[in-house]
Amino acid sequence: MSKKIVIIGGGITGLSAAHRIIEIQKENNLDLEILLIEKSDKLGGAISTIEKDGFLIEEGPDMFFTKRPWALNLSKRLDLDQDLIETNEKKRGTFVLWQKRLVPVPEGFLMLAPSKILPFLKTSLFSWQGKLRMLMDLFISKKEVDDESLASFVRRRFGNEALERIAQPMIGGVYTADPEKLSLRATMPQFLELEEKYGSVIKGMSYNEKENEGDIGARYSHFLSFKNGMGTLINTIESKLPENSVSLGETVKRITPSDQGWKVLTQKRTTDASAIIITTPSYHAASLIQNFDPSLGSDLSSIEYASSAVIILAYKREDISHDLNGFGFVVPDIENSNLIACSFSSIKFEGRAPRGYVLLRAFVGGALNPGICDLEDTILIQEAEKEVSQILGISSAPEFTILKRYPEAMPQYHVGHLQIVEKIKEKLNRHQCLEIAGNAYSGVGIPDCIHSGEQAAEAILKELF
Ligand SMILES: Cc1cc2nc3c(=O)[nH]c(=O)nc-3n(C[C@H](O)[C@H](O)[C@H](O)COP(=O)(O)OP(=O)(O)OC[C@H]3O[C@@H](n4cnc5c(N)ncnc54)[C@H](O)[C@@H]3O)c2cc1C
Repeated sequence: MSKKIVIIGGGITGLSAAHRIIEIQKENNLDLEILLIEKSDKLGGAISTIEKDGFLIEEGPDMFFTKRPWALNLSKRLDLDQDLIETNEKKRGTFVLWQKRLVPVPEGFLMLAPSKILPFLKTSLFSWQGKLRMLMDLFISKKEVDDESLASFVRRRFGNEALERIAQPMIGGVYTADPEKLSLRATMPQFLELEEKYGSVIKGMSYNEKENEGDIGARYSHFLSFKNGMGTLINTIESKLPENSVSLGETVKRITPSDQGWKVLTQKRTTDASAIIITTPSYHAASLIQNFDPSLGSDLSSIEYASSAVIILAYKREDISHDLNGFGFVVPDIENSNLIACSFSSIKFEGRAPRGYVLLRAFVGGALNPGICDLEDTILIQEAEKEVSQILGISSAPEFTILKRYPEAMPQYHVGHLQIVEKIKEKLNRHQCLEIAGNAYSGVGIPDCIHSGEQAAEAILKELF
């Protein structure tokens, strides 16, 4: 009898799982069917590309990192090589808002430490005392730590100024996280490894720079997108899935073990499944699992999430006085702004705005400023627009604005996260033909989500065949 695999959640993780199953099925001629159940009325989850008035707009993620190879790998398998685009080579760089002014991140500065000393010494972003304290990293002896928060590590090696002015906005911003809680081991273990190996992060980074290993911090040459936006990945995977294998607008309410494997209960029906892959946020996974494994459910629900929102703003280029000579800016928490960051989308990638126009994306919320997401739509847009206008010297109202909210969408990898994930994996082993994947466990970036979905698919097929 044909085996049926139900995948719950149609974000990039669920789609990657479904695609991997179909790939392996074709290679091995397996007798199986899949059903991907997605609660919203479209696939993609956080990934959403839309078009408006000649603008190509990413409402969520706008690029992926190639040093984690799985997104690039999948794109190649989907024959999307020709659609891949790089960031604009002429404008690479980021600003930091410091005392209400935009200051360029010094050349060679990778997330939390300089790999090139001269540009670092010249920057006005840090005081002389701050710079000296950061250079103390060359002499401070290493400390054996199992896990440590970003804040603790940066304070220990580089001092408080480095934490407040650059590490918190650059790293904390990406994870929309509180740096006092964010686990370095679970998010950026490479910095701990540099300390372990070279006794100093700066020394290790300079060495890697010379050896051209260069995979310590995220560089813009390591990011790609698609000509027609990240939605390309979603649409292409969807086109490869068998007919009638996707059900939209259906919410899984409960799963229970049964003689045949599993029963999946939604608001519409009950379906028998030989195996299940859950790719929803972990708090949803917890609610599905709670009834038959409360202990696993409670581990899953212990992973916290942060909410954020993206405010998209379109302007005429002539109305912006800033030179926009970079890809955007990040905002330290100590600036007391509502913004986490702002991306100059149409500068970063070609084809995002018609000639003579600029597309900006402002980010708000996260673990350090959750209250802002409670504001109603018009006020939230106004607040973001006002601040972006002040910072970039914008003289007119935007051509249009779009607000996209991401409630409880970003898992928070707190200190101890790796142990929670280990416990989840162990407890999951108690259940046959059940896998859990997604951004809550081993990486929030798109490549990691793809890897997680593909690994879950392979594990399920191993159990079934
Ligand atoms: C604003 C923003 C910007 C980002 N930028 C980047 C970036 O530039 N690069 C990058 O690599 N990463 C980025 N990320 C992170 C990355 O986009 C996400 O981690 C990733 O897309 C998550 O994919 P996922 O499939 O695991 O989860 P999701 O996209 O959250 O998908 C889960 C799906 O499950 C569905 N679901 C939930 N419960 C049920 C249920 N009971 N029944 C059926 N379906 C259900 C949901 O509707 C959803 O579609 C960004 C994230 C955000 C929020």
